[in-house]
Amino acid sequence: MTPLELARQTLMQLSKSQSPPTPDNYRLVYNEIAGLEAEDNGTILSKALDKVLTDLGKDKPKYSVAAQKISTLVKKHDSANLEKHIRSLLPVGAGETDSVNWSTLLRYLLKQLDLNHNGITLSRKKEGLSRVLINFASDPNQLGQKIQTLVTSWGDGQAVMIVNEDNAAEPASAETEQPAAHESALDKHTAHTTDDAQLKIAIAWRDLLIRTVSLVVLPQFAAIPAATSRIEALIASAQKANTIEEVNDVSESLKSTLLRAEMQTDSQHRIQDALVQMLRLLVSSMSELTVEDKWLHGQIAIVQEIISKPLNLDSVYSAESSLKELIFKQSSLKPGLIAAKETLKGMMSTFVSGLADITESTGTYQIKIAEYQKQISETEDITQLNDILKNLAGDIHTMNADAQQSQSAFLETQKKVDEAEKKINELTTKLDYISEVAHEDFLTGALNRRGMDEAIEREFERADRHNTALSLAMIDIDHFKKINDTMGHSTGDVALAHLAKVVKSILRSTDVLARYGGEEFVILLPGSKQDDAVNVIAGVQRDLTKNFFMHNSERVLITFSAGVAERMTGEGVDAVLPRADAALYLAKQTGRNRVVGAALP
Ligand code: GH3
Ligand code: MG
Ligand code: MG
Repeated sequence: MTPLELARQTLMQLSKSQSPPTPDNYRLVYNEIAGLEAEDNGTILSKALDKVLTDLGKDKPKYSVAAQKISTLVKKHDSANLEKHIRSLLPVGAGETDSVNWSTLLRYLLKQLDLNHNGITLSRKKEGLSRVLINFASDPNQLGQKIQTLVTSWGDGQAVMIVNEDNAAEPASAETEQPAAHESALDKHTAHTTDDAQLKIAIAWRDLLIRTVSLVVLPQFAAIPAATSRIEALIASAQKANTIEEVNDVSESLKSTLLRAEMQTDSQHRIQDALVQMLRLLVSSMSELTVEDKWLHGQIAIVQEIISKPLNLDSVYSAESSLKELIFKQSSLKPGLIAAKETLKGMMSTFVSGLADITESTGTYQIKIAEYQKQISETEDITQLNDILKNLAGDIHTMNADAQQSQSAFLETQKKVDEAEKKINELTTKLDYISEVAHEDFLTGALNRRGMDEAIEREFERADRHNTALSLAMIDIDHFKKINDTMGHSTGDVALAHLAKVVKSILRSTDVLARYGGEEFVILLPGSKQDDAVNVIAGVQRDLTKNFFMHNSERVLITFSAGVAERMTGEGVDAVLPRADAALYLAKQTGRNRVVGAALP
């Protein structure tokens, strides 16, 4: 049949069947008469699409899968899902349901920011980026594409493959592709990363942000209710933000919150500095006010030393506890002690001036009494007051008959003096107790046993940490009993304080002096090997022969014997101390006033 004849037959058939003469109906009848397979536009399109996808699927299996899915959806007449599926195969931007794979894009961006691109400085890159951010902030898909294009342009045509089929970012390769081709690499990647995974990542980031703001930023504003409620509102809106606009709003208020937080931190630092400055002033004025107590001065020096260094939490705590000791002692005991001393002084001068009236006639006593009055007014020390009192008593006994009349008055005064002395002793006992709490020995200013234990633990640990040497010396005053017996216990006390002072003046500030008990001391010498430590202690001995202490205007020489042991790595105090003690024993055995190094363990 000729085509003309076919057309004629087709028209006849159409009029016979009374079908409307539409092109589709014409084609159907024509094909039927001509014996051709019926094939409409849809079929042609479907076939073409199927062919393209199957061909692509040879390299990338996902397209084969897509082809099957499309064919299934066509069969099912599921046009909604068909459209969606076809869109998902198109590059980003072509379909509105697609979104940029931000995690890959940002990784790529960060890497390219760091890379050195010829002639493009970091600030130029940042400028370009901020322009893109400003212009396309409202459209995330476009923003993603523009960032991608911008970053690719830095490579100056040297395209960089950033993804492969396995969804992994790859380092810059030498492959040369045009920016457009490069873009599509990322887009294809985007297409087959599921929405679900992206959503999870976004939620994880949001939660991190909320935690950071709640735990780090919010506490900074705890004292400012208005700021606190503003940040709480920010956290609430971050929790609810689902659209890019909402996220942008959160970002804006976060920016201003972070700025305020930084200013808040700044002002906290300034307040801190001002407080430390005030504390320094306070402590130094305290040391000027409390003139007459050595122990107090020692404590103040400790606090001063602590706050002169850069502060950390530990040093603030120890400054606080030393200050508390000071304040406690000052407030509760010092006034009592001073008052007791004052009463004693007052009574004594009343008595002495009464005595002056009685002995007006005798010139020698006049002079003596004037001397006593001078001594009483000058002394601050209770033991000296006692000595004055004793001498006075002796003089009174030898006085003439006039003076006898004052005996009863004297006894009365003596009674009051005893009471005052008792009170002073009680207070001193309390001071000893406080001294115990404060880790320091009241008499010598050296560390007490508790302080020593702490220092040993600290220094041993430090030596282990830095793998450095550490030596320990034990010293014991020679024939100390004799000093006590011949010059009195209080002179013995002065001798102990004198020894501690001389030792401290020779030691380095990092060395530690502790009163081990009675007239025995322990010295820690961090960083010193045994021979060096022996030399240091021998130096103290030499210094003691030059630095006498005075008793009744006489020079008294005190000597000591010492044993020095270097701590072996990892050795505990229970091992080192007995070795130093054994060396000390040897020093005593071999004539005293000697320093002996311990034998190796
Ligand atoms: P050596 O060590 O040379 O063998 O003789 P020593 O006389 O020093 O020996 P010993 O250990 O027997 O005597 C120590 C004395 O120290 C006995 C004790 O009364 C005295 N003593 C201990 N603590 C104090 C103190 O705080 N003040 C005073 N004044 N004496 C004290
Ligand atoms: Mg002893
Ligand atoms: Mg001794």
